[in-house]
Amino acid sequence: MMVPDKSVVLQSVLTCPACGFAKEETMPTDICQFFYTCSNCGTRLRPKPGDCCVYCSYGSEKCPSKQIEDRSQSA
Ligand SMILES: [Zn+2]
Repeated sequence: MMVPDKSVVLQSVLTCPACGFAKEETMPTDICQFFYTCSNCGTRLRPKPGDCCVYCSYGSEKCPSKQIEDRSQSA
């Protein structure tokens, strides 16, 4: 189920673990973004073990599919 609704947050602030640079990005709703290159230092980020995408590991919000998943489990 990848249908985003109003309660799904699409803006996430990604913080680079290498340099601490934070940038707001809009998350894609159709794919999990696996790689992200820091626009400040150029470090290529990958998800931590167990995370599906860089937003789950380094973002202020989890990715849309994870938000939907969490909600359906707690409901
Ligand atoms: Zn960086």
